[in-house]
Amino acid sequence: MLKQLMPYVTLLSLLVITTNCKQSTNGNHQDGLDEVKQPYALVIHGGAGTIRRGEVSEEKEAKYTDMLATVLKNGESILKNGGSSEEAVVAVIAMMEDSPLFNAGRGAVFTHDGYNSLDASIMNGDDLNAGSVAGVSKIKNPIKAALAVKDKSDHVLLSGAGADEFSIRLSLEVVDSAYFFTQDRWDRLQHILSEEKETGSINIVNPDDKYGTVGAVALDRNGNITAGTSTGGMTNKRYDRIGDSPIIGAGTYADNRTCGVSCTGHGEFFIRYHVASDVTKRMQYLGESVEIAASTIIENLEEVGGAGGLIALDKNGRVAMPFNTSGMYRGYVNADTLVTAIFGEE
Ligand code: ASP
Repeated sequence: MLKQLMPYVTLLSLLVITTNCKQSTNGNHQDGLDEVKQPYALVIHGGAGTIRRGEVSEEKEAKYTDMLATVLKNGESILKNGGSSEEAVVAVIAMMEDSPLFNAGRGAVFTHDGYNSLDASIMNGDDLNAGSVAGVSKIKNPIKAALAVKDKSDHVLLSGAGADEFSIRLSLEVVDSAYFFTQDRWDRLQHILSEEKETGSINIVNPDDKYGTVGAVALDRNGNITAGTSTGGMTNKRYDRIGDSPIIGAGTYADNRTCGVSCTGHGEFFIRYHVASDVTKRMQYLGESVEIAASTIIENLEEVGGAGGLIALDKNGRVAMPFNTSGMYRGYVNADTLVTAIFGEE
């Protein structure tokens, strides 16, 4: 009897697995695109965190939505016209670094000591070449410094004053520290410092914080994937703390055989769980789709208390944008469509 029922039981379990998988990625599946290989694609994020509808004014929502769309259109025109995924990633991340809306470049958060300390990384999926900078404070566009480390040094990661010096020698644009000042970020630091005084506890992690890092992954017409990430890190960080964003394998990873990934969230967890490379390795070793690999990792991270999200783009242009926070600024574009979203239910 059981033997006769087995085919039905198997079919039923398959249906359940498929349904569960479909529910697990914040509704970001692109159903119907299974067989489509996009000629090019670009996915971006502007950080995950406590971003709830109702707590964000309509004006602010419109500002972010417009900015995400402008960035995507800009990146798309590079890819559409035959530009490389690396060109697109550097251009769109530099645009977000130049905007005070995001915690990267100009809008970077403040350290405990009241300055801005910036991290960035970039990786190519064709040769697995990569470059990063951590704790730079003079370079206008840290993503360009990361690119220079990749292309013009024998190293992968440079940090602090040395990374600034290296970038200055290569004539990257330098700015005064006042360039990075934004009132919102300064007020946020003052608020946390006064809380610290009251409670006597030292903590860089505040559940109300929006992480706000930026990232991009692009697939170009030659099938090359590039991923990049740029951040000011976490408000009130001290002791030259470095998060996941400049760590290849944690905050950024790209491999043409599978996908490219850029992360945002509580960096210590992303370093410990090696999140970005784990997405690519799950695809490679377990044969998972980009959506399943990415959403499984973000769900597992939530179980251990790691808040955040990621964007991933596979070699066919399929996108995953899972997160376990209430929102994540995000969007993607390909030859068929342009999508932006902020809140969890979208
Ligand atoms: N992941 C970054 C860090 O830990 C923060 C962020 O994503 O906003 O430095």
